[in-house]
Amino acid sequence: MAAANEFSIIDRYFQQKSLQTEHNDVLLSIGDDCAVVQPKPGYKLVFSIDTLIAGVHFPHHSAPEQIATKALAANLSDLAAMGAEPAWFTLAISLTENDPDWLERFSTTLLEMANDYDIQLVGGDTTRSSVLTITIQVHGYVKGEPLLRSSAKEGDLVAVTGKLGAAALGLQIALNPEHYHQLSEQARRQALAALHHPIPQLKAATSLNQYCNCAIDISDGLCADIGHILEQSNCAARIDVEQIPLADCLREIPYHQGLKMALTGGDDYQLCFTLSKAARDQLKDKYPDLDFTVIGGICSGQGLQLMINNKPYQLMDDDKKGYNHFG
Ligand code: ADP
Ligand code: MG
Repeated sequence: MAAANEFSIIDRYFQQKSLQTEHNDVLLSIGDDCAVVQPKPGYKLVFSIDTLIAGVHFPHHSAPEQIATKALAANLSDLAAMGAEPAWFTLAISLTENDPDWLERFSTTLLEMANDYDIQLVGGDTTRSSVLTITIQVHGYVKGEPLLRSSAKEGDLVAVTGKLGAAALGLQIALNPEHYHQLSEQARRQALAALHHPIPQLKAATSLNQYCNCAIDISDGLCADIGHILEQSNCAARIDVEQIPLADCLREIPYHQGLKMALTGGDDYQLCFTLSKAARDQLKDKYPDLDFTVIGGICSGQGLQLMINNKPYQLMDDDKKGYNHFG
């Protein structure tokens, strides 16, 4: 991008926005060669980075509000999965053109959401390329120990926050609207909202932090993400599929089709975690309003066993895994 353009874009859309709250641990924000922060003593820092590419992670010509929301939500969800609280983020954006309307809508949504989740944009990079690409790196604080994928223990319960499958239905509606004419307006709206406005579970994460052994965010699909826990924790799990909390909008499609969306569809951004039975009881006492459901348990061995009525539940082989870029 021509230099004058690049700097006016940074200045106008990402730096001058009065939307941003300034954190007092940020010593120097956008404008110099680096951002400078003074981390709070006694905390660990965690980072995560994610790239969204037009045509790969979202359809070309998606609304800028949807792209901004998705990009930040996916990253915030990774912080939630570590039991972290948001601190700062950087944004590398490759634009195909300098479109003021697009930039205004993108940056306003991004910075409003950043404010809602109390995370500050402190730097980035702005370039031109033939494909719209957005990379966000988030930084967060963890008090005590982060929640790892590798620390599930035999005898733990497996639980999830919220309800699953709505984003997968939303994706199907977006791709093949003609197949979903029979859905009520309410179900359609819920499914599309789950797809386009995911809610990272940061609040739940801070409640869970002290009680659970292990956590992951459900971004690739429940089966795939539990699979990551099992591989890294070197154990097995049995999941009772009837216990899986299905999103309300799935009631309007056949049960097994909805269940498959909850098991294999990505982008729910709920948390899947493991904890002891005693910790489950304490968690319920301490946070009676926390919305979570026990769906199974960790056992010895390897692999994920899905059960229904105490019998193995079979998904078609190619349905088992979530989204894999090189699969
Ligand atoms: P450099 O030449 O040192 O890479 P840049 O010209 O890329 O610096 O960026 C100038 C300043 O603007 C830096 O502080 C950088 O972090 C910030 N910046 C660039 N692009 C963005 C963006 N999209 N969002 C936020 N800050 C940005
Ligand atoms: Mg640069």
